Amino acid sequence: MTLDNAEKHSKPCKIIIVDDDEQQANLMRAMAETAQLETEIFTNSIDFLNTAISANDIVVLDLQMPDKDGIEIMRELAIQNIKPNFILVSGFDERVLHSARQLAESKHLNVVATLSKPLKAKEFIALLSNTYTECLLEHRQQIENALSAKDTEQITIEELKLAIRKHQLIIHLQPLVCFNKKQIQSAEILLRWQHPTKGLILPDDFIPLAEEHKLMNLLTEEVLGLAINEYHKLTASGINIKVSVNLSAQNITDLSMPEKLEELVKNNQIEPDSIILEVTESALMNEISESLDILNRLRMKGFSLSIDDFGTGYSSLVKLYQAPFSELKIDQHFIMHMATDPDAAAIVRICILLAKELKMHTVAEGIETEDIWNQLKELGCDIAQGSFITEPMPTEDFIHWVKDWKMKHNNNL
Ligand code: C2E
Ligand code: MG
Ligand code: MG
Repeated sequence: MTLDNAEKHSKPCKIIIVDDDEQQANLMRAMAETAQLETEIFTNSIDFLNTAISANDIVVLDLQMPDKDGIEIMRELAIQNIKPNFILVSGFDERVLHSARQLAESKHLNVVATLSKPLKAKEFIALLSNTYTECLLEHRQQIENALSAKDTEQITIEELKLAIRKHQLIIHLQPLVCFNKKQIQSAEILLRWQHPTKGLILPDDFIPLAEEHKLMNLLTEEVLGLAINEYHKLTASGINIKVSVNLSAQNITDLSMPEKLEELVKNNQIEPDSIILEVTESALMNEISESLDILNRLRMKGFSLSIDDFGTGYSSLVKLYQAPFSELKIDQHFIMHMATDPDAAAIVRICILLAKELKMHTVAEGIETEDIWNQLKELGCDIAQGSFITEPMPTEDFIHWVKDWKMKHNNNL
């Protein structure tokens, strides 16, 4: 089936307006029509819930309705696993819209925007037409993915074990630079699976499988072996920076891990302080006493420790205080939203203050724009990582990138 045929046979994206106030609904329809966008209107939530809704549809949802309110509607759709793109509208204050968005996102529903009534026509029309274009593109992409048989759902644990044995796992490097002088501080080692038929597979598509099958010790051993090789390539090219390796929850329950790691770096003539070990905040939540034992011994052996994805794991301040981390990586969700969401910006500010009080460096990952870079620099964040600097890449490309960066910013390592 060609893409065009596939598109003809699948449903296009619909725009659905759900508002009990008929006049308000008609007004939104009229605004949409000025951008040649067709809409369907529902003034009754029961009728809306009985209609067919797809993941590519856009639902403009009024939060306050007499029979079922917007929150109940989203809850019912989430239960049925129906996840269109929501634009939430309300006459209540910003806070209500904000917490409705949080609630929706906690149920993995996609909220494109929240708007207060009365709507501003220009803003509404621009939002609707941008969202519509994005939904069409996404719809097209989904069809392309389905047609290109690049389906990662088929991955089995046997395939992953074979991949480890056949050395199909490779690593990419992403630089971390300091805000002040733009010096390159370190590189994060990020795992990829170079699959013979499915192409490059990202870690989120296979690490959960490895975790589920208790394969993380084997996988981390493979990553460390690769990291050591790439580290030697960097130093041979005159690049003397630290490398950071991600550990999983399973790695920090193996009491013999610090000794194994110490021996590994010693056998490979690498100083432990060249290695940063990243542990996610959520990995720290289980088995805390064992983890603390392991983390403390790693630190005493000279490895640096970084707490990754900080802000999403609900770990207590006590745990943060007890564990010997020297670096705090603020979760990229907050960084990506800080320009548009004042609460995300507040969390970023607090993380930076907290890290400073605890004498830790702060890293902001997921910086995609200059605007966010400037804001973080202003807030006193120490180290930056993100596509605004550059995406992760193979070591050979990384070596060239470092040379270009140093020339551009006139700095030495
Ligand atoms: P992480 O450790 O938090 O790594 C950062 C992730 O954010 C990487 O995704 C990186 O490519 C991505 N990233 C960095 N800057 C930006 C940006 O500006 N925009 C966007 N959209 N993304 C950005 P990646 O490589 O897909 O890795 C995802 C996660 O998989 C990692 O999150 C880490 O938790 C896990 N992972 C990766 N490699 C390993 C590994 O060797 N072992 C373990 N246990 N986990 C790993
Ligand atoms: Mg990391
Ligand atoms: Mg992270």
